Amino acid sequence: MARYTGPVCRLCRRERTKLFLKGERCYSLKCPVSEAVTDRHSRAYPPGEHGRDRMRQGSEYLVQLREKQKARRIYGVLERQFRNLYEEANRQSGITGENLLRMLELRLDNVAFRASWGASRSQARQLVRHGHVLVDSKRVTIPSYRVRVGQTVSLTPAARDLFVVRRNIDTLDRQVPLWLEASGGGSEVRVAALPERQQIDETVREQLIVELYSK
Ligand code: SF4
Repeated sequence: MARYTGPVCRLCRRERTKLFLKGERCYSLKCPVSEAVTDRHSRAYPPGEHGRDRMRQGSEYLVQLREKQKARRIYGVLERQFRNLYEEANRQSGITGENLLRMLELRLDNVAFRASWGASRSQARQLVRHGHVLVDSKRVTIPSYRVRVGQTVSLTPAARDLFVVRRNIDTLDRQVPLWLEASGGGSEVRVAALPERQQIDETVREQLIVELYSK
């Protein structure tokens, strides 16, 4: 299954905001776009030789494009898959942008991330790919699998004892969103409802994505 495997900090630098793609490092002073880093060491400008020259505000199209790229990178979805999700969101009733974000939130790797099993979405995705995650007691290894209301997502007994998982559950200061109900000492979550827009804490302006794709 295709996925981006290049350096991820440059993606944040390109979007000039923290996308939290690297787990613990994102909360430390090692983050190159951290606001706490002094100006001299900060690299909060686009990567590349002419990165600093690209700091200016772009056209309306460019702003929409960057917002779409930001959302794609936060959730680790490639262009074709993202476009397909948009088409599906557009066919559904309701607000297209919210439908799109809801579908992204309901991805199995995102649920594992929200449950604090992975420090980043890519780590959560790896847990899924390696067969450490069950949906209604059945192993599911597809990160893009979309969970449904009423389903229970849990760690396998072996995964509950993995050092990295235990440490994430014990140390990540992350609240389980209201649409998920945690139990079993954090090793199990039930999808209690569909996520509402106000329960999704990503700073994505989804309307700009809709405007971009509906041109
Ligand atoms: Fe790198 Fe994380 Fe900082 Fe992004 S937020 S630049 S992934 S350390």
